[in-house]
Amino acid sequence: MSLIDTHSHIYVSEFDLDFALVLQKAEKEGIRKILLPAIDSTTHESMLGVEEKNPSICWSMMGLHPCSVKDNYKEELKIARNYLDGRTFKAVGEIGLDFYWDTTFSAQQYAAFHEQIEWALHFDIPIAIHSRNSTDECIKVVKEHQKGKLSGVFHCFSGDINQAKQVIELGFCLGIGGVITFKNSGLDKVMDEISLNHVVLETDAPYLAPVPFRGKRNEPSYLKYIAEKLAVIKNVTTEEIATITTANAEKLFRL
Ligand SMILES: [Zn+2]
Repeated sequence: MSLIDTHSHIYVSEFDLDFALVLQKAEKEGIRKILLPAIDSTTHESMLGVEEKNPSICWSMMGLHPCSVKDNYKEELKIARNYLDGRTFKAVGEIGLDFYWDTTFSAQQYAAFHEQIEWALHFDIPIAIHSRNSTDECIKVVKEHQKGKLSGVFHCFSGDINQAKQVIELGFCLGIGGVITFKNSGLDKVMDEISLNHVVLETDAPYLAPVPFRGKRNEPSYLKYIAEKLAVIKNVTTEEIATITTANAEKLFRL
């Protein structure tokens, strides 16, 4: 079986102690590639270090996470843009809007999101969208920029069927993670109606571990629990889920 974890922050300090083991476990479970979404300048170097030490497995994105959009966001954008000017990345990400904790910087979040979408269009690479408590708002922003050229994924999608259909209509993928294994998430009913052709898998490690590890540190090897749950919902084999979602991820991120 071959799986791709399209969103995993395995370069953060939660993995300092057992990083090699985490990668070994992932490999054993068939995780062939891991995409690393950027956060901000405090972690860019460690992300790039992980990518450099694990070529052909780990692939970096570059961007400014909406939760890191503060007063200094223009400096942060400059740093991210410098990296993008210097080499190729698999995506601009993760970018978007987060209205869960704090809306103090919502205007700046919008500005950073718009600007980074323009970067993706300029470099002709996809975007990885973070849309916590802001799915409708993110859909609206993408709509404004979608003139047929923009591609990407709504990472950690947990919206309703109407939102899922809008995302697909925009030509975007749904990034499905641990939430699908949570009781009462409602995501199972949404996925029941959605074609697998628009789905990529992700862990969002170290966050949002799937059942039976809910609440614990998440890691790429747990992707199999997400694939298994999706297989049950779609009434297909886990192998089929792996084949389709891997092909989708390869196509989207040009892996
Ligand atoms: Zn993330």
